[in-house]
Amino acid sequence: MNFLNYSFYLCNKFVFFFCFLGLVSCVSDSDSNLRTNRKYSSIDSFGFSSNAFEFSNSHKSQLEVFNSFFIDAGCYQLPGNPKADSLHAFFEDLREGYFKKDDGIDYSIIRKEYHSFTHAMDVMVTTHMLLETGGGVYLTPSERSCLILSALGHDALHTGVNNSFLIQVEHPYFKETGAESLQEKRSANYVLELLDKHKILVINEGMEDLQKKQIKEGRDLIEQSILWTDMKRHQDQMKEFSELSDKLVSVIKQHRKKPTQEDIGAARSDYKNGLNVSSFLSYESRVLLSSFILHCADVSNPGKEWKHSERWAGLVMNEFFSQGDLEKKLGFKPSMNCDRRTVSVPACQVGFGKYVIRDLYTLLKKTIHDGGSYLLDNFNSNQKKWKELQILEGDTELPYAIKFSPPTKEGGWMGELRDGEN
Ligand SMILES: [Zn+2]
Repeated sequence: MNFLNYSFYLCNKFVFFFCFLGLVSCVSDSDSNLRTNRKYSSIDSFGFSSNAFEFSNSHKSQLEVFNSFFIDAGCYQLPGNPKADSLHAFFEDLREGYFKKDDGIDYSIIRKEYHSFTHAMDVMVTTHMLLETGGGVYLTPSERSCLILSALGHDALHTGVNNSFLIQVEHPYFKETGAESLQEKRSANYVLELLDKHKILVINEGMEDLQKKQIKEGRDLIEQSILWTDMKRHQDQMKEFSELSDKLVSVIKQHRKKPTQEDIGAARSDYKNGLNVSSFLSYESRVLLSSFILHCADVSNPGKEWKHSERWAGLVMNEFFSQGDLEKKLGFKPSMNCDRRTVSVPACQVGFGKYVIRDLYTLLKKTIHDGGSYLLDNFNSNQKKWKELQILEGDTELPYAIKFSPPTKEGGWMGELRDGEN
């Protein structure tokens, strides 16, 4: 996803400026050994408040999380039952895709403060939580597992600058891919190519028709959900999903064994009680719901605990400012929200919350009650803090100072500290 592209889009549209801002055991003996003394030994140990900077701070811990999600008992099971060795090799290649440095980008200035592998791990865990807190009832087991995989891969090959920058400098990627969802297409293609390379989600003739269908649809779900993370498509997604949401809540109400007092969307208890309404929904509806979940997870930072939310906000603003620095060096005017001399971080957070996040989380809560409530409640509390900080900036005429705290190098941060950062 790319917040900046969306800012440009909204700016053009509204002509005002706002700142941005199945569950199967699949364990082998060697995998059992891997689990010994693991900190992240169970998928059940994760929650919305899990600290991505911690569970993604080393290659080892990242692999532990991946094992919890895709290798261990109780994990997500991809159609075709890929072997653990193939999944591990896929994981290493996918991870590598977050560490690539591209020709034509000055990485002495661009540092990938935000679009790191830590962000990918964070989005994967948050997607899992949105399934666990209700969203899983709408999808089949294989769809749930493919969605988790797409979350991990959704920003692979991200350059650290936004699509508009790549278009402005006529980067070769723009010429190869075109302007539309430039980096999202590259990420989706990369994930699909790696799946082919490691023979995961690949159809072979010995498979039964159902399995072939699950694989074909799973690959499509991965591609579509990643493409929908393009912030430029946010309003289109909101419009399409708003129409679907009423139907989803209605189907839940019809099939809930124990009716609730209120007509709420899917809840954690529905999922835990085994409710599944996927067979009453079209495949297209399930893909749209999957894409909506991934989009919400991708922009879930404003709905996390303040300490995590503020830290992620500082990182995304730093990434914007680094782009602005590069634009100045190249003789361009800094893009919107990218000029560190003039942009207010609290004002960007307030604007992004007001024009994007509030409606998104409200729609999420309507559809996935418990997960949406968590994000929306935190968001409302965080917005109050950003507004207070915005007022403080005005009163003191001192800009809000970002407490710069990037992920570790193994977590995917590609830069070096600058003067004044510690
Ligand atoms: Zn992302």
